[in-house]
Amino acid sequence: MRRVYLDHSATTPVRPEVLEAMLPFLKDAYGNPSSIHSFGQEGKKALEDSREKIAAAIGASSDEIVFTSGGTEADNLAITGTARAYARKGRHIIISSIEHHAALDSAKYLEKQGFQVTYLPVTGEGLVRVEDVAGAIRPETILISVMHVNNEVGTVQPVAEIGRLARERGIIFHTDAVQSLGKLPVNVNEMQADLVAVSSHKIYGPKGVGALYIRRGVRLEPMFYGGGQERKRRPGTENLPGIVGFGRAAELIVPEMEAEVTRLTAMRDRLLDGIVARIDDIVITGSRQHRVGNNASFCVKYVEGESMLLLLDMQGVAASSGSACTSGSLDPSHVLLAMGIPVEVAHGSLRMTLGRQNTEEDVDYVLEVLPPIVDRLRRMSPLYAASGRGK
Ligand SMILES: *Cc1c(COP(=O)(O)O)cnc(C)c1O
Repeated sequence: MRRVYLDHSATTPVRPEVLEAMLPFLKDAYGNPSSIHSFGQEGKKALEDSREKIAAAIGASSDEIVFTSGGTEADNLAITGTARAYARKGRHIIISSIEHHAALDSAKYLEKQGFQVTYLPVTGEGLVRVEDVAGAIRPETILISVMHVNNEVGTVQPVAEIGRLARERGIIFHTDAVQSLGKLPVNVNEMQADLVAVSSHKIYGPKGVGALYIRRGVRLEPMFYGGGQERKRRPGTENLPGIVGFGRAAELIVPEMEAEVTRLTAMRDRLLDGIVARIDDIVITGSRQHRVGNNASFCVKYVEGESMLLLLDMQGVAASSGSACTSGSLDPSHVLLAMGIPVEVAHGSLRMTLGRQNTEEDVDYVLEVLPPIVDRLRRMSPLYAASGRGK
């Protein structure tokens, strides 16, 4: 059976060049980068080479990059780290209501610690309004966190405008660029960001490694205590094979980006238009204009997203409903609800995210298998019968 992977926003396969780059560091080059001897120095050099590659990919200097265990840790470190460091200046933070749980739950944790948090609304198109950010700022605001690209609906947020506003008011600006790196230009200066989170496994690197960009002069309290690694901002022996893989993945993805995004956007548009043409009552979720090229998100009315996922999987198609992190719970996605999508519609959400290995034949295959799946589920759906459309 054909297998079609359409869940690249959940994770991506490690590309061969990346694995190749990592292997020496899983074999003979096992030195600890903190050691004085040649084994250690070899590791240290690889660590610093990777740091330069990550910095180059986002327009930063290498001394502003701290390696972490992934995007989740980078978001946690950015938000809780600066909140703790600047608490004496003020205890109010602003965050969008459609952030990844890594950011959102960091803010919720801070709320329990006595910080005040404003959760920004979004438009029906899944976009944060700059006016809402401006309206939420108080004298005691220390941090604004708005993601660059949303992981569920793929919408691109006006981060440069928000960054400019934050800078004018002397407020730190964090953006989660996990879903934009490799899909859009990511430049810390153009975004006027002070903190930027990125993750390796969303760009064809290994899992369990990421980085936080920390603008020179921005202070933060570490989450861990231990050795002096990462200039004490993230102690612990570095995940060197992972970091080397991440560096290689970042180095490869940026120059290929434009051509690949053009290819994926055309495929995504054909997929989305094909679905709308073949299936009634589809609600496309999120702005079609301000959206990354590989994301097709929509709701299929009168059916459950989970049921579609299971039947798609039986046909070899891997997609997601809501986000991978909330699957397992039956709550509809906080992102779709924040966009004002009714709960019963949000239950029918599907997200298909394309990547390097997908072909036009994959799109044809999904357009062939999805309509009968929806048909079958709707025939069993009391909601569909009640809607009067079943006849
Ligand atoms: C995947 C993802 C994360 C978490 O990154 P991990 O490396 O999996 O911890 C954070 N933010 C966004 C937007 C993501 O898509």
